[in-house]
Amino acid sequence: MKKNDYLKWDEYFMGIALLSAERSKDPNTSVGACIVSKSNKILSVGYNGMPVGCSDDEFPWEREGDPLDTKYLYVCHAELNAILNYTGTDIRGSRIYTTLFPCNECTKAIIQSGITEVIYLSDKYSGTDSTIAAKTMLRAANVKITPYPSAGKSIVLNL
Ligand SMILES: [Zn+2]
Repeated sequence: MKKNDYLKWDEYFMGIALLSAERSKDPNTSVGACIVSKSNKILSVGYNGMPVGCSDDEFPWEREGDPLDTKYLYVCHAELNAILNYTGTDIRGSRIYTTLFPCNECTKAIIQSGITEVIYLSDKYSGTDSTIAAKTMLRAANVKITPYPSAGKSIVLNL
């Protein structure tokens, strides 16, 4: 008889988004994303980080101060990285698992790349203009918005 405590698809893909977030150097917000095809194949993953060539040690991670000295103008978000990391041609009709509801900028990239569903874990910035605009665009573009159904499971990885 097969074992029953295996990871369900949603758990597996959100788990990979969460694991990817562990790669982030951002001291305040670690976000991961995982793009999955209709046939449950992982197409790409991403996490929030500085663009290639922009040193994690030299570019700022601050949240306040002169805008040029904060992370916001520089950091590439997990969802955008996941989209840009994909090099194939199969992304249309896929879905994206993300540990935090996408911002308005990532939402534009999600819509334009043809992703048709967003499965999100946290929506802690739901009151912000960015998230409100993101939801307005996703609805207008008929991108399905699905809160991740928490399984209440935790996994320890011994690395
Ligand atoms: Zn974003």
